[in-house]
Amino acid sequence: MVSDGLNHDVLDNALDIVMILDDNGNASYINKAGIEELGYDLEEITVFKVFRTLFTKNVDYREYINSIDGEKIKGFVYRKNNTCFPAYIRVKQIPDRNGKPMKVVSVLNVTDEQELERVRKKMELTMQERNEFSANITHELRTPVNGIKGHIKNLMNKEEDDEKRKTMDIVMKCCLNMEKIINNLLDFSKLEAGKFELVEEEFAIRECIEHVISTSDSIANEKGIRLTSFVADDVPQMIISDELRLVQILNNLISNAIKFTSVGYVKVEVYQTYHKLDTTELTFMVSDTGIGISTTEQDKLFKSFSQVDGTVTRQYGGTGLGLFVTKQLVELMHGEITVSSHKGEGSTFTFTIHVHTNKREEELVLEEVAHVEDMALEIQEPVIHKPIYTYDSEDNQIQRHSTVERLLICIELHKWDKAEQFADSLKQLLAGAEPELKSKILRMQMAVRKEDYDNSIQYLNQIKQMIGL
Ligand code: ADP
Repeated sequence: MVSDGLNHDVLDNALDIVMILDDNGNASYINKAGIEELGYDLEEITVFKVFRTLFTKNVDYREYINSIDGEKIKGFVYRKNNTCFPAYIRVKQIPDRNGKPMKVVSVLNVTDEQELERVRKKMELTMQERNEFSANITHELRTPVNGIKGHIKNLMNKEEDDEKRKTMDIVMKCCLNMEKIINNLLDFSKLEAGKFELVEEEFAIRECIEHVISTSDSIANEKGIRLTSFVADDVPQMIISDELRLVQILNNLISNAIKFTSVGYVKVEVYQTYHKLDTTELTFMVSDTGIGISTTEQDKLFKSFSQVDGTVTRQYGGTGLGLFVTKQLVELMHGEITVSSHKGEGSTFTFTIHVHTNKREEELVLEEVAHVEDMALEIQEPVIHKPIYTYDSEDNQIQRHSTVERLLICIELHKWDKAEQFADSLKQLLAGAEPELKSKILRMQMAVRKEDYDNSIQYLNQIKQMIGL
């Protein structure tokens, strides 16, 4: 401590520049950071040199200091060698230990901040230009591709020579591939620019799935792969969502599944996993028996331009944009997408979307009443008497099938809270089972409680086998 009452040790070690000025604008103290940055000796420092653009000749020093007391102002600070830097300057007048006012000035160099801001603005502009450019160029690419497609189609209709038709077929497939890449690039630049908008309308989900399957059927057939679909009974007939984008997501996943599978099947399943009034969560699973993806490779999957490894790209082609766009679309539809796969054993891509149903108000009220009544019934009735809980009854079998499916989806999506509820329901449904099955259920329940994905799936698969699913 010295006579001014401030702890100079603290100030000396401060990273910002701190100086104390007397009534005439001369410095009576400057810390180490100040000496190093400005290059003056203490006796040389006056506000008229260091802050020369703030304290010009026609400015009254005391008046100006009073007017900016306590405020943070932006200005330039000059070094002894006449170079300068932008800074935030704050002057605070505080009494010294004798009660005399002293002016403590702190200076924060903002060169880095300004540089950062400049770079950020430049990047923003570059990104915008890049997005506009790629949107324009991809749009332009569509015209020639459509032209080639149209002419090839005409030629194919007239051509009778099988060899020539085969070649034309290859040209057509190349066009379709190119079209897919162009569309992905177009979506990518729109998504990057935040210009992607969903168009929601009512449509029949089952017809939509049928249509998706029928468009990929011939490619699957050519490879000798079975392409099947299943839509659970409780999925609403009509939903409100963006059909075009849902089809795009499914097509991306199905075309990958077919591409990376040489024997076996590709399966599309749709379940309703949440339902309250007119809001519904649908869960889609696209599984295949193809080459699979290792755990380390799975992490890279949903990033732009990522393909799991070079060998795959060389063998199968592609840009690695499909899954990135797919993930973004799923998220726009308020859902999430995950993958579970083992190398050589196939993959399952699971995604959810939130949709609306166009129920009339009376229907909603009736449904809510029914829901409350159901809950009341469940509370009143002892659980054992319900046929659903009679082990191996028809109701019991139907119910445990759907509970297992839902449990599987929850585990796949890592929705552990819901999984715990379904595991509990399954335990109740299988309360009359043999001890070995019951012990498996207990183990599965523990695994779910621990959020242990591998063991949960392993025990659930064993349970499925034991109950013949
Ligand atoms: P692209 O747009 O080039 O088709 P994607 O983003 O759709 O690329 O896929 C990226 C990579 O993920 C693929 O190159 C492949 O390595 C891997 N992949 C995607 N789906 C599957 C699948 N069903 N089975 C195995 N690998 C897959």
